Amino acid sequence: MASGSKDAGPKKRRVTEELRHFQDGWNMNYFFVEFKTKPICLICNNSVSVTKEYSTKRHYEAKHANKFDKYKGQFRQDQVSDLKRKLSAQRQIFTRADQESTCYIKASYAVAMILAKKSKPYSDDEIVKECLERVVEILCPEKKKDFSKICLSRQTITRRVDDIGKHIEDNLKNRASEFIFYALALDESTDITDTAKVAIFVRGVDAHFNKTEKLAALYPLKDTTCSRDLLGAVTATLNRFSLQLDN
Ligand SMILES: [Zn+2]
Repeated sequence: MASGSKDAGPKKRRVTEELRHFQDGWNMNYFFVEFKTKPICLICNNSVSVTKEYSTKRHYEAKHANKFDKYKGQFRQDQVSDLKRKLSAQRQIFTRADQESTCYIKASYAVAMILAKKSKPYSDDEIVKECLERVVEILCPEKKKDFSKICLSRQTITRRVDDIGKHIEDNLKNRASEFIFYALALDESTDITDTAKVAIFVRGVDAHFNKTEKLAALYPLKDTTCSRDLLGAVTATLNRFSLQLDN
C-alpha cells in the first residue's frame, strides 16, 4: 500500500515521528533515559538505535528483566534514581573527555594508572613527561607537538586517579548488589610511611555463580591492630558496599 500511493509517504512518516519521541514511562518500565536524543539503558549504558518502545522493551526483556523485574514500586524507583546518578557522574567524565581529544586523555589516564599502581607520588608526572619529551626528540621529533598535548600535570593526574578509583568502586558496588553470598578476608600491612593498614578483600558469588574477588578497602589503623579498629573498618566496608551480614 505504501509503495502504491505517493500521499501515504509523508503522512506515514509524521505518525512514525510522533511515536519516536522518548516516553517518560520507559524510565521505570525499562530503565531507559534519553541522552542526546537517544534512549540509553541505565543498567548497561548501551543505547538502542531506534527511539521506539518496542526497542527499549526488547532490550530490557532480553538483557535485564531477569535481574530487575524483582524491583517493584519504590524499590524500582530507587534503583532508577541510583543508576541515573551513576550515569550522570560518568557523563561528567565524558563531557570533560569531549573537550580534550580522546587519545591524549587516554594517554594521561594510562600514566595515572601506572603511577597509582606503583604507588608513586603524582608529582612524578613531571619526570614522566620529561622522559617522554626527550625520547620523542630523539626518535620522532616531528611528533613532539603531539606529546606536548598530553596533560600530565599533578592536578590532572590526581583527577584521573580519582576517576579510576571511583570507576572501580562503582563496578564493585554493582557486583556486590548481586551477591547471594560473600566472604571477607582481612590482611594487615604497612605502607611506605610505616602506617599500619588493614586491607579488606571481598569474594562474592551471584545467582548465576559468577565469582568476584577484589580488594574492597584499605583503612589506616590508628595505633595497633586492636579489635575495635578492625571492627570499625569492617563495618565501614559493609556499609560502603551495602552488604548484609546475613549473607
Ligand atoms: Zn541494558
